[in-house]
Amino acid sequence: MRESSLAPTIDLDANGERHGFLKLPYSRDDSAWGAVMIPLSVIKNGSGPTVLLTGGNHGDEYEGPIALAKLASSLKASDVSGRVIVVPYMNYPAFEAGSRTSPIDKGNLNRSFPGRPDGAVTEKIADFFQRYLLPSSDFVLDIHSGGRTLEFLPFAAIHVLRDQNQQARCEQAMYAFAAPYSMKMLELDAVGMFDTAVEEAGKVFVSTELGGGGSSTARSVAIADRGIRGFLANAGVVEHTETSLGVEDSTTLLDMPDGSCYVTSELNGLLEQCIDLGALVRQGDVIARIHDIGRTGTPAVECLAKRDGLLAARHFPGLVKRGDTVAVVADIVVGDISPRR
Ligand code: ZN
Repeated sequence: MRESSLAPTIDLDANGERHGFLKLPYSRDDSAWGAVMIPLSVIKNGSGPTVLLTGGNHGDEYEGPIALAKLASSLKASDVSGRVIVVPYMNYPAFEAGSRTSPIDKGNLNRSFPGRPDGAVTEKIADFFQRYLLPSSDFVLDIHSGGRTLEFLPFAAIHVLRDQNQQARCEQAMYAFAAPYSMKMLELDAVGMFDTAVEEAGKVFVSTELGGGGSSTARSVAIADRGIRGFLANAGVVEHTETSLGVEDSTTLLDMPDGSCYVTSELNGLLEQCIDLGALVRQGDVIARIHDIGRTGTPAVECLAKRDGLLAARHFPGLVKRGDTVAVVADIVVGDISPRR
């Protein structure tokens, strides 16, 4: 297969702290010989596992970029055994635009794997991660949030995998992240996801959903900060340090066993939230109402829970469209377990 046109501007294998870019040539009207410059840092000390930490896979999710930018500027090689590769803004054009997908090619990076070396910009980014960064990584943490259109309870997540040994190692890493909730996640469509690429490469993989609405909170950033340290300690590349940062030290294990977790809007309208995140619901409960904005005097349409459980995610903007996910109801598997004990 053709070589990638992306190239790091720093040596990824040298000891020490290095800060540079993944340079992707991108010729356009305002810069004939221009390039997309994706910032990255590599902190390496001797031999040991490689941990790849990514944020900004979607450009409107902020806990990952904030926590990873802080880590990149503070982590010293003397604190590390092995190598930490930090890419806070993975789909940089999307991140710069504050949008989920890239303004260059409308590419959703997390639906673009394995990518193509001769494809559009977003496919080229995916290809570089797939063929150059993934093979040399042992542990991968990809930090997501809800972005501008979703809001989540803060959770770290894994998928159910065929290889039970790999899944057990992923679970251990998820508990080391120690978010207030931990999720066995069911994807609506796993094709093209970074998650799938990492898992199929046999690596230890954890993803997160830490908040949403296209911003962050002091609490959601603290969860990310602590989670990253726990993830690195579990990989064996940094010493374990107790950092509570005011975040509770227990987690509740959730599960999304099938499609009945999803409540989907069947019409456009004004969304009235009737249940807040973290609340318990019963099958048949009214989770939300959708009001007709075309006229007055018509009754609202009710969105009902299709199963018992806990409201783990919901639509964020005040208006909703047909086909939008209104809410996600998850099963509680185990409440309040202490993952670090
Ligand atoms: Zn995302």
